[in-house]
Amino acid sequence: MDDFRAEAETCLRAGGHRLTSARRQVIAVLGGADRALSAYAIRERLAESVAPPDVVTVYRILELLETLDLAHRVHSLGGYVACNRVRQGGCHHPVICDGCGRIDEVEGDDVGPVERRLDARGWRITGHVIEFRGLCPACTALKAASGTGAAAARG
Ligand SMILES: [Zn+2]
Ligand SMILES: [Zn+2]
Ligand SMILES: [Zn+2]
Repeated sequence: MDDFRAEAETCLRAGGHRLTSARRQVIAVLGGADRALSAYAIRERLAESVAPPDVVTVYRILELLETLDLAHRVHSLGGYVACNRVRQGGCHHPVICDGCGRIDEVEGDDVGPVERRLDARGWRITGHVIEFRGLCPACTALKAASGTGAAAARG
């Protein structure tokens, strides 16, 4: 996840944002996690650090990272994840594994036609929240393996 750290630091600097110790710490925690973390969870992970930022500071940093498209809010889990597809086109939607809880994301979407239908009905759409759930490749493989294993044991 050093890639994320480098990307985030470059992006912050390019936007004229100082690379404070608090920002560095939040970026490191977020970049090293494969699941959604709330501001409180991040603060907890930083409790042992020399100068841990308070929860409000962590929350503001998460909002800033979201504004810069470096992090995404996962609404159904009340947390944030580092973007692992920085600079990939389209908007990004999280996909949450029901097996192990890890989060990936997919870029691009086809909600334009839906938004146009709403537009035709007089709505002015300002955004959308789309999150996918399923089994990640590792959990899918595990399930397949245990399935055949059980069948072999029976057979
Ligand atoms: Zn992303
Ligand atoms: Zn979208
Ligand atoms: Zn999984």
